[in-house]
Amino acid sequence: MIIKHREKPMKIDGYEALLKRLPPTHPKRMAVKNSLNSAKAGYGGEERLDEALEFFDPPYPYQIIQDFSLGGVYKVQVDTVVITQSCVFLLEIKNIAGRLQFKQNPSALHSLLANGEIKSYKSPITQMNETAIRMSKFLKNLGCPLPVTSVIIIAHPSQIVEGAPPDALILAAGEVNFHLSKMKMPKPILSIEELHQLGQSLVAVHSDYQPFPLAPKFQIDQSEIETGVFCPRCVLGKMERTKLVWECETCRLISRDAHSDALQDWFMLIKSTINTAECRDFIGLEKLDAAKRFLIRNGCQPVGGRRYRQYIRQPQDR
Ligand SMILES: [Zn+2]
Repeated sequence: MIIKHREKPMKIDGYEALLKRLPPTHPKRMAVKNSLNSAKAGYGGEERLDEALEFFDPPYPYQIIQDFSLGGVYKVQVDTVVITQSCVFLLEIKNIAGRLQFKQNPSALHSLLANGEIKSYKSPITQMNETAIRMSKFLKNLGCPLPVTSVIIIAHPSQIVEGAPPDALILAAGEVNFHLSKMKMPKPILSIEELHQLGQSLVAVHSDYQPFPLAPKFQIDQSEIETGVFCPRCVLGKMERTKLVWECETCRLISRDAHSDALQDWFMLIKSTINTAECRDFIGLEKLDAAKRFLIRNGCQPVGGRRYRQYIRQPQDR
């Protein structure tokens, strides 16, 4: 049973908003595009893993947590966690183009692209071994003695894998279901009730990875980010404020709330607080009063004294 489902990573929307607001010739566009592409490939791989386990129906009780991350000292991020009464599986899917070569001493994953380019990544085996150690430690602290095994999954059959060490468990996405279902499980350590309790505890401690604000991460200054309200239909068109609504200068779309997206862009790109003057200037409102009303209407809460008042937005339900 799946007790936590995966959602689209927030950073994908963030990278897209950043590209929309950077001038066409900005030197950081390429770096942002690369981050967007790798985030999309990662999410594509994770969706592939979810599909591969859609008909997972093993002969043993289990709980699945999709997209698990643990903050604090542990710093664990796992694509999918499968908890059983006898052990915990950590599943990590790799969706990297090219011919993949596992290198040792020191460990790395190389991908050879068709154009001869070689890209080097942290070895997923080393990464997952470390994650398994941290997860075991965390479980032990919870009072749970389950052993932890990590499995690396290759998203697509077109990914050719070479040099995988014999002691690492690397599977094709298409065989994960069969492999896990047919696995001979050791004697149960947890009762069914304890299994459910462990699942609930892990969901409770999961903390969403918070990637924002993005502009400082790319060392992009706020002054380089284009302000204003963009059209939700033609995306690159700017919207003009008429008396009551916003109208696109390009496609003439009329919208009442297109500026809510611009506020969302602010929090994703610039910083986690905004004051009324910043809001007025970023969105293109005329008056501070209008900015204040707009912030409150959009779920922002004032913090700090009157003179230095800032507004923050609570994380929204997605
Ligand atoms: Zn438009």
